[in-house]
Amino acid sequence: MRKWPRGIGYQKHSIHKGSKELGPSRQLLDKWDRSEIAWGDYVTQYSADQLWSVAAEIETESIAKMSIHKTVTLLCKERENDPHCHRHILKNIVNRIANKSRTRRLPR
Ligand SMILES: [Zn+2]
Repeated sequence: MRKWPRGIGYQKHSIHKGSKELGPSRQLLDKWDRSEIAWGDYVTQYSADQLWSVAAEIETESIAKMSIHKTVTLLCKERENDPHCHRHILKNIVNRIANKSRTRRLPR
């Protein structure tokens, strides 16, 4: 989420941290909200934005490492069962990185 929702306290809800770097850009959200972009194109653009952002890469790798040992819950303003939320794309990216990391750690 780029913009943290009012009334949602980190401590009250045991939220570890917020990562605005991992939220979709304002431009991408605007395109989606105005129905100017199909979901497939949204996924492509979001993934590309994440790939080209060093800050996002650092955050994503941090979450991937954490996910190897702990359960990580990604939060957003959309409901969990809404298929049109960047969390689903981010989850795939995180899982890909975590799986690569796990593979590297296997004994030979
Ligand atoms: Zn979302």
